[in-house]
Amino acid sequence: MGTGETFLTETGQRILNVHRAGDCSGGNCPIHNPSEHYLADAPRHYVGDKQLMERVCEHGVHHPDPDALAHLARVHGAEWAAEIGVHTCDGCCTLPPKPPLQISTSRDRLSALAR
Ligand SMILES: [Zn+2]
Ligand SMILES: [Zn+2]
Ligand SMILES: [Zn+2]
Repeated sequence: MGTGETFLTETGQRILNVHRAGDCSGGNCPIHNPSEHYLADAPRHYVGDKQLMERVCEHGVHHPDPDALAHLARVHGAEWAAEIGVHTCDGCCTLPPKPPLQISTSRDRLSALAR
């Protein structure tokens, strides 16, 4: 008790007793080490009764954070995570990760699209 960190989500929630960096349940963590996904830069919002970190896309739709779902699957099993992950989706969380911010030539962009 009282040993965790306090984390402030981008939606202004204060989450108490968050595990520390290094105590994540796996390689990726929505708080300490987000994986590359389309909504990795989207605001985070925590749903306490689901113990789920969500990502709010630019359209205001809440999507389960994929790293949070992976965490729930590790802790509670895949079925649990699948149930928690059910949401009204506008498709944003199924998009491929945004390319890293860098200057790319139009040729790079075309070959990325061709993939
Ligand atoms: Zn973590
Ligand atoms: Zn969206
Ligand atoms: Zn979604």
